[in-house]
Amino acid sequence: MQTKLLINGQLVDGQGSPYAVYNPSAGTVLVNIAEASAAQVDAAVQAADQAFAGWSQTAPKDRAQLLLKLADRIEAEAANLARLESQNCGKPYLAALNDEIPAIADVFRFFAGASRCLSGSAGGEYLPGHTSMIRRDPLGVVASIAPWNYPLMMVAWKLAPALAAGNCVVLKPSEQTPLTALALGEIMAELFPAGVINILFGRGPSVGEPLVNHPKVRLVSLTGSVATGARIIASTASSVKRTHMELGGKAPVLIFDDADIDAAVEGIRAFGFYNAGQDCTAACRLYVQQGVYEQFVSKLGEAVASLRMGLQDDPHTELGPLITREHLERVEGFVERAKAQPHIRLITGGQRGAGDGFFFEPTVLADARQDDEIVQREVFGPVVSITPFTDEAQALAYANDSDYGLASSVWTRDVGRANRLAARLQYGCTWVNTHFMLVSEMPHGGMKQSGYGKDMSMYGLEDYTCVRHVMFKH
Ligand code: NAD
Repeated sequence: MQTKLLINGQLVDGQGSPYAVYNPSAGTVLVNIAEASAAQVDAAVQAADQAFAGWSQTAPKDRAQLLLKLADRIEAEAANLARLESQNCGKPYLAALNDEIPAIADVFRFFAGASRCLSGSAGGEYLPGHTSMIRRDPLGVVASIAPWNYPLMMVAWKLAPALAAGNCVVLKPSEQTPLTALALGEIMAELFPAGVINILFGRGPSVGEPLVNHPKVRLVSLTGSVATGARIIASTASSVKRTHMELGGKAPVLIFDDADIDAAVEGIRAFGFYNAGQDCTAACRLYVQQGVYEQFVSKLGEAVASLRMGLQDDPHTELGPLITREHLERVEGFVERAKAQPHIRLITGGQRGAGDGFFFEPTVLADARQDDEIVQREVFGPVVSITPFTDEAQALAYANDSDYGLASSVWTRDVGRANRLAARLQYGCTWVNTHFMLVSEMPHGGMKQSGYGKDMSMYGLEDYTCVRHVMFKH
């Protein structure tokens, strides 16, 4: 297992404190890895800063070539990477192999092409005797901080646009799930010039904070919780760093009387519980119109009870455990407090799974009210709440009454209603009659406390550049 950090083109052992990385299905330690020391954080940023002069001047087609080679290597090593990911996250091996790896390779391929296609407004003579043009240039050193739910995918979302745009990167994966990022480090060391990409290991306070506060870091890109985002924004404010924030979510799902109820049930079974619900876009906050409410609750209860929770390597497993014991306790706390409310009905699930792994049963809670904690707060686990509504206006008001603004969906056969709601929902994405589907060409990112900045798409690439004006006197 590759557990070395990548600093200035060299794979090196961390010189900080050891930290245990777990297999959450068994609740056992997979490996202890030493964190980066303060000197190693500094060395990584200095290496990225020194590499920037050369990397930022490479032709886009040359950067594209390397990103394409990286995508090929990821595919060639798919089985190994998927195995590591499933061991470290507890997620089903086949999901990592068949859902995540192809999407990860595609992100690198998309940004390889995108790096050659940046466009801008026309140049022209806006002052007589002068010609102006617009450039989009890279920023310098980017500090990328990733979460644990889709470790390698989040690495791809962060690295691909930053490198494609000509930046150099110091990446810190989550201390809970570093294994695929560190494995990728070995491949990147072979392919990329020294210093262009550096990969550290360690926790937020010991490695993340010195990294984001390093004076040579120009942009901090975080995917993580709202609390971490707010802390980073505050700590980087005094040095006026750019920030790119992909934070939490609590996706509303609006199901109308005229929807295809079976398709909606199937959709929520899949998209509310994929990755054990540890997904910022998870279809977790359900609003169902009164005419179909009881029918929907009963069908969803049955469908969710049929989900197969289990070990990574069982090909029938649909969902695995939660990431840590602390997170299991947190999710359990939300469900226990909801169950204690006299008006909430537990339809299925509601408790821990058997064994030493961090399993929690897929859970449906019906009759939740708009101001209930289970409706308002991000649980980030296999738990959905259902709340009835009367009409479109009430559904919209409920949906928008949230601190979060990442993803939403509307289930209806009425095209006019779907369009009306899509125009009024305050979320970075609205799906109609589906949920959760992402493509490299389309932007992903939030409004409100879900953050700002886009991952994927040309908008994502632009976020890693600065618009500049160059003027010529004739
Ligand atoms: P987290 O905020 O606890 O950690 C995210 C990363 O930030 C980790 O690498 C962590 O070590 C680092 N970190 C923590 N404190 C830091 C600090 N002070 N300075 C620098 N780095 C620090 O989040 P998590 O628990 O790993 O991930 C779950 C959260 O991520 C959920 O809220 C989820 O909604 C969100 N998420 C959002 C998206 C999105 O696209 N919007 C995608 C996936 C996950």
